[in-house]
Amino acid sequence: MSNLKFDKIPASFEAMLKFSEAYAKRTGTFFCVDTSVTAVVIEGLAKHKDQYGAPLCPCRHYDNKVNEVSNAYWNCPCVPMRERRECHCMLFLNSDNEFSGKHQVADIDVLLNAIM
Ligand code: SF4
Repeated sequence: MSNLKFDKIPASFEAMLKFSEAYAKRTGTFFCVDTSVTAVVIEGLAKHKDQYGAPLCPCRHYDNKVNEVSNAYWNCPCVPMRERRECHCMLFLNSDNEFSGKHQVADIDVLLNAIM
């Protein structure tokens, strides 16, 4: 993942933040205590959505991202998350995880500042 400098808030970042907040609430999971983790993962999801049309998980290596998007297994929320509540990116954490914060919402300016 590489960080981007944003001149303005990209619609895709905002959309992926809204998705993440809604999904955290729906699954009873929480964002990481380290805001930069949340920010970098959402940025990666947004970049993949922009480039490939789907929020492919940004925390993995893929030989062919186009094929991975059509496979859908790692499109967020990925199958491990949907089936077992496992998010290896640490975007969605169970409350008993040592890195779990207490928040299911995040301030977009704080997130963007964390990755700029
Ligand atoms: Fe989304 Fe799964 Fe990646 Fe977590 S591990 S960010 S749920 S695709």
